[in-house]
Amino acid sequence: MTARILDGTRIRDQIFAELEMEIARLAAEGIRPLAAALVGENPASQLYVKSKIAACEQLGLASWMHTPPASITTEQMLRLVRDLNNDNAVDGILIQLPLPKQVDTKRVLEAVDPAKDVDGFHPVSLGHLVSGRPGLVACTPAGCMEILRRNGIVIEGANAVVLGRSDIVGKPMALLLMHANATVTICHSKTRDLPDVVRRADIVVAAMGKPGYVQADWIRPGATVIDVGTNKVTDPKEAEALLRNFPARLEKFREKGAVLVGDVHPDAVNTAGALTPVPGGVGPMTIAMLMSNTVEAARLRRGKAKTDTVQSIAGAR
Ligand code: NAP
Repeated sequence: MTARILDGTRIRDQIFAELEMEIARLAAEGIRPLAAALVGENPASQLYVKSKIAACEQLGLASWMHTPPASITTEQMLRLVRDLNNDNAVDGILIQLPLPKQVDTKRVLEAVDPAKDVDGFHPVSLGHLVSGRPGLVACTPAGCMEILRRNGIVIEGANAVVLGRSDIVGKPMALLLMHANATVTICHSKTRDLPDVVRRADIVVAAMGKPGYVQADWIRPGATVIDVGTNKVTDPKEAEALLRNFPARLEKFREKGAVLVGDVHPDAVNTAGALTPVPGGVGPMTIAMLMSNTVEAARLRRGKAKTDTVQSIAGAR
């Protein structure tokens, strides 16, 4: 069996088209949602933020990026966040991690006004999610739910196994699946008999940060696999072990000296029923949901009613 590929890029484009309509509707009322990004001098972070800013521009959202100096203190960073909280033109505040080492990241994230918390990382946002109240949901897990929902994967009653329990992926993912009536098992580094637990899953969500760790024969034939892992592999031996059945990808690795792989071994494409590719699966959805959260934050802050479009995106939460 070869798995159906759950194409995140295609769904991102669908969501962008829906958001464009919503943004045009807000524009007609004189509202242009604004996202403000704070990012350190880390080149990978700057690249991420630039792609987020490019998405804002593509959709007609206003954006503003600020790069504080590497020597910034926690107090200075808190002042910046407070200024953004108090600026009524700003709808969404995005803080790209990691922040410089000396900055207390938790304090900075907790200082963000929950109404502008488009990353969904604030404890208030997480609390809303736990209690099933509307709010801003962390973008990557919200994107995974959209992939499942828009591909007609049955969640209700399914056994879902989430690998990883981070605050930004694993925990919110498990909550979203539970609210959608799946029976959820959360696994972590101390879980015993991981292969057996995974074999019971109708839906596997892998978010561990371990390239190709989940073996193809752990996947129940026909199961759905959402691979959140985004791992850059540069070791030729590791690349060969992962891509032995994918000569074209291996060739590309040899040319470039690096390849992106998920947490699930690529051979799982022969056991799963449906699977997100890496790259091109969950990654594009994270940006789509960030844009969706920014529009949602603008709408909620300005007391605007939901349109059918926003309703349909928020339906996955
Ligand atoms: P994280 O904070 O490092 O958490 C990793 C989790 O995996 C932890 O809960 C850890 O367990 C668990 N884990 C590690 N080794 C394990 C093992 N052998 N068996 C079972 N569980 C194990 O990572 P994260 O921020 O959630 O990110 C996870 C992955 O998703 C990374 O590859 C990251 O790059 C990727 N990611 C992708 C996107 C995207 O847009 N595509 C967005 C966010 C993250 P313990 O709690 O016991 O340590």
